[in-house]
Amino acid sequence: MIQTIRGFRDILPEDTALWQAIEKTASKLFEDFGFKEIRIPVIEKTELFARSIGEATDIVEKEMYTFDDRKGDKLTLRPEATASVVRAYIQHSMGASDAVQKLYTIGPMFRRERPQKGRYRQFYQINSEVFGIESPYIDAQLILILNELFKRLGLSELEAHINSLGCKECRPTFQKELLNFLNGKKEHLCENCLRRMDKNPLRTLDCKVPECRAAMADAPSTLNHLCEKCKDHFETVKSVLNEQHVDFIVDKTLVRGLDYYSRTTFEILTTALGAQSAVAGGGRYDALIKELGGPETYGIGFAIGFDRLAEIVAQMLNDAKMRAHNASDAKEFQDKNLYAAEFLKLVSIKTPDIFIIPLGEKATRLAYMWTSALNIAGIRTETDYSGRSLKSLMKRADKLNADFVLIAGDKEIEDNALVLRNMRTKEQYFITAENPVEQLETFLNRV
Ligand code: ATP
Ligand code: MG
Repeated sequence: MIQTIRGFRDILPEDTALWQAIEKTASKLFEDFGFKEIRIPVIEKTELFARSIGEATDIVEKEMYTFDDRKGDKLTLRPEATASVVRAYIQHSMGASDAVQKLYTIGPMFRRERPQKGRYRQFYQINSEVFGIESPYIDAQLILILNELFKRLGLSELEAHINSLGCKECRPTFQKELLNFLNGKKEHLCENCLRRMDKNPLRTLDCKVPECRAAMADAPSTLNHLCEKCKDHFETVKSVLNEQHVDFIVDKTLVRGLDYYSRTTFEILTTALGAQSAVAGGGRYDALIKELGGPETYGIGFAIGFDRLAEIVAQMLNDAKMRAHNASDAKEFQDKNLYAAEFLKLVSIKTPDIFIIPLGEKATRLAYMWTSALNIAGIRTETDYSGRSLKSLMKRADKLNADFVLIAGDKEIEDNALVLRNMRTKEQYFITAENPVEQLETFLNRV
């Protein structure tokens, strides 16, 4: 039997209702904040990622799915979306109509990492990018949007970490000081950090190896080396967030895994998936657009890990189900999630509203016709063509959790009296066989 390859997985129908609800909640929020959707290809020239993400990063060094196509071009399955969105922005001169462009995109990314909980080789991201705004208000607003989205999804135990990486003016002096520090710690650093020292010394700050962490505890912080402009910028981000009651933690080890970031960077962390992991990350990339051949333009964005987000939301909902059995807990949960009420409505599993049980050949053909007409009228209706008995079809209706069952045997049709049964209350009604679709429409609008 052929199965999915390692790190790749199916999202099954029992989960897609949740995925769709998250997607709807996110796109509604983006649209309300003036973002427009962009859809980009999943394959790009390898060079696009190598140049933007940076040669000395985990992604480019070992995680990309790169291959030669039949003409020998080097192509790569996208490991992230920013590079492609920037490419599209430049390619279509999107800044020409309005210097400010606010975009979002949702789709799969590919990284050849070691698969584990919350880490897949094909995973999904919800991405947003803003071009043309230098002001720190937009940095704060992106963090506000993340905060608002998580609130709407009913999530509360998340931590926003923020940092500033400085700019091309102030980073070189910081890097020099960092290198001095690293040279004194060489015997405590892992192989990776030693190798990265020349190419990308910032990355040593977020190394996960415990010995490196310990050695780096008193490493210099970018925050003490910011130029006046970067300092002001970061101060505004923080004070705006405070005024909008968005909680955050300033985290000097937050450097992010891609080369293109400058000034504000941020991550949203959770412990809900075991070890602390990031549900979202982002930051400013003011140099990237020019670097990729575009005009000098400010840029900032974030990526939410959709798979991880869906896992935390599913956990929260399961938790809610458990709590529903305990009155005081349920009350507390409800209060906390009142905000998420819209979302909870979206995610409630859809079941057929009506299940038509045809008995006999003539009835089956009619049941098919009625079902189609009701489906077209927007009423979820299901029927069955197997010719099985009333008893076994009632069982199927139960399994499908239908609200109503319409029993249409050849005899009921002849008698012009179909039986409509409310499966919750067990009440029964009669409906004539001539125009059941219209009758059901009026009936359902009434109940
Ligand atoms: P991590 O430190 O967990 O590897 P990252 O810094 O590589 O994350 P980003 O490039 O910032 O991740 O991507 C943004 C988000 O995408 C992450 O916060 C995470 O939620 C999600 N993500 C990244 N890689 C994966 C993966 N392999 N599987 C599932 N989700 C992922
Ligand atoms: Mg990673």
